[in-house]
Amino acid sequence: MTKTAKKIQMVDLKSQYEKIKPEVDAAIQNVIDSTAFINGPEVKAFQAELEKYLAVKHVIPCANGTDALQIAMMGLGLKAGDEVITADFTYVATAEVIALLGLKPVLVDVVPNTFDIDVKAIEKAITPKTKAIVPVHLFGQCADMDAIMLLAKKHNLFVIEDNAQAIGADYKSSDGTTKKAGTIGTVGCTSFFPSKNLGCYGDGGAIFTNDDALAAKLKMIANHGQSVQYIHDSIGVNSRLDSIQAAILRIKLRSLDTYATARNKVASYYDKVFENHPKIKTPARAKFSNHVFHQYTLQLCEVDRTALREFLAAKDIPAMIYYPIPLHLQKAYLDPRYKAGDFPVTEKLCACVMSLPMHTELDEDTLKYITDSVLEFVK
Ligand SMILES: *Cc1c(COP(=O)(O)O)cnc(C)c1O
Repeated sequence: MTKTAKKIQMVDLKSQYEKIKPEVDAAIQNVIDSTAFINGPEVKAFQAELEKYLAVKHVIPCANGTDALQIAMMGLGLKAGDEVITADFTYVATAEVIALLGLKPVLVDVVPNTFDIDVKAIEKAITPKTKAIVPVHLFGQCADMDAIMLLAKKHNLFVIEDNAQAIGADYKSSDGTTKKAGTIGTVGCTSFFPSKNLGCYGDGGAIFTNDDALAAKLKMIANHGQSVQYIHDSIGVNSRLDSIQAAILRIKLRSLDTYATARNKVASYYDKVFENHPKIKTPARAKFSNHVFHQYTLQLCEVDRTALREFLAAKDIPAMIYYPIPLHLQKAYLDPRYKAGDFPVTEKLCACVMSLPMHTELDEDTLKYITDSVLEFVK
């Protein structure tokens, strides 16, 4: 077993860039030459192309995925004290914006096989104060949207999809229709952070909706609550996708499906090696969604995870823990309503999960080196 020549990374943005370098460099230069840095034609073109790709009526670009979530909640008119239900097992941004707006984050557990929000737990958490559900399409596949939409309809709730990790994934509804992740709920939010599946070369984000009136509101809020220049109808924020990022995203959007295929090839390789290992649990596929593998996440409950990561690190193989601490046990989100043991699935996952390198540029030699190394430690 030999080390590969190229440094192994969780995400290899450099090799991916090298393949599209002439196009990207020209597009960046073009924006600089035009000096249309803010709200230029590249932003409008990207917006239109993403609307077409997602088959959604409105895409509202903004500065990052966290802003996308915040603007969505502001646009829906959620008020201080309103309860918003979300998953305990997610990136902090999801709960952060809820708390920041003075809303009450109501956390629920996830299901053990797909890591997605537990619909039965959502139903139990609904009170007269509940106004919205924020499902997170974690690691690249959709939450159980049919069941979530049904609950939302029954209780008159908004659904805000946190789609930062699953852009491009297809949700297959029980009625036979297929929709893109993020276009099923009232509103969908995504991030173009460089390491996301559709990543730019800085910060970026977007909000999706099919609701015309809501789209107008979201656009206004993202732009200082301004309806017409210097006329401010509501308190807004300053949240823009800049033209250079939009120009890069236009190029990368054309490859998004190819990138998903490459990620799936990596996942299949990992699956095949680890599938029947008694101590390694490979990620399950939901029956209602395909997977775009933002992360490939193993469950290693019977393995000394810390020692394994050290063993891999000594072989120059990175491995990450997404996420090490459940939200309800994070200092910032401690709440007398919750204590250790309340969300057993999330707590177990935080103790057991480990994500392997996952990106569009992994070759078989590298995958063999990674998997051989894992198996050398996990006997
Ligand atoms: C990345 C991410 C966000 C936040 O996106 P930023 O662009 O970093 O603000 C929100 N939710 C989830 C689940 C994410 O993975």
